[in-house]
Amino acid sequence: MFDELSARFEDAVKGLKGQDKISDTNVEVALKDVRRALLEADVSLPVVKDFVADVREKAVGAEVVRGVSPDQKFIQVVHEQLVEVMGGDNAPLAKAAEAPTVVLMAGLQGAGKTTATAKLGLHLKDQGRRALMVGADVYRPAAIEQLKTLGGQIGVEVFSLGTEAKPEEIAAAGLAKAKEEGFDTLLVDTAGRLQIDTEMMEEMVRIRTAVQPDEVLLVVDSMIGQEAAELTRAFHDQVGITGAVLTKLDGDSRGGAALSIRKVSGQPIKFIGTGEKVEALQPFHPERMASRILG
Ligand code: GDP
Repeated sequence: MFDELSARFEDAVKGLKGQDKISDTNVEVALKDVRRALLEADVSLPVVKDFVADVREKAVGAEVVRGVSPDQKFIQVVHEQLVEVMGGDNAPLAKAAEAPTVVLMAGLQGAGKTTATAKLGLHLKDQGRRALMVGADVYRPAAIEQLKTLGGQIGVEVFSLGTEAKPEEIAAAGLAKAKEEGFDTLLVDTAGRLQIDTEMMEEMVRIRTAVQPDEVLLVVDSMIGQEAAELTRAFHDQVGITGAVLTKLDGDSRGGAALSIRKVSGQPIKFIGTGEKVEALQPFHPERMASRILG
């Protein structure tokens, strides 16, 4: 399981080989390499510092069982810590006790919100659920059309009131329709901005108030790397998120954003986007991401 990781760390943990335990002094070279690997993966510096401190604490003096050498034990601690920081197991999408489950999609413009909304619509359809997608992105002119086109492709209905109505009114009307017509999930695509912006946050809060979502998913472009920390903090403080979708992991991103999101908000990444196509959505697995980050 630790093959890739082991290859990368072979040099770094040389100092631990042949020792009978991991000590304060013999672990530092290995910790430096962990630090470098995380910075290369574009994890934000405060997150890296905390991570290295936690690994040091867990590794030093750790009991080395027979058959496992200190260097192997160190690698195991790093891997386990990565998985733990990212939330351990996969966290599924919330399901309200009483339908419909309301999911708000939040995030910056271009992060992949509209695409992720359709991807989730298809994911739910594949599970035999019936979603209604709501086009409440009145800010980016083509967004509603884009959602309708995607909805047509995947056979999931889209509700909108055009770009003149207020987003919170569109979302509320969508919710009323979902209740009336027995949809089990409402996916609300909202408007992003190019950067963190007060108007966007206030708009999100108004939509949240109008539809009382069970889930607020922050859609994060993985290519922004360490900036994910600041972005997540802003959305979590001002709107309150319950999870995230990390997009564009098919690009050359090393996945460092994954560590910051959980650390900053305490909320799990639930899905990853791995391509432009509507099928390119997968549940997030911390194990796999750990190997990617240190691989
Ligand atoms: P929005 O402004 O947040 O709604 O972003 P869009 O959904 O319109 O996506 C912006 C661009 O990113 C589009 O060209 C999408 O095709 C692309 N995109 C979205 N998700 C992914 C992904 O997981 N991988 C790749 N490669 N492209 C994506």
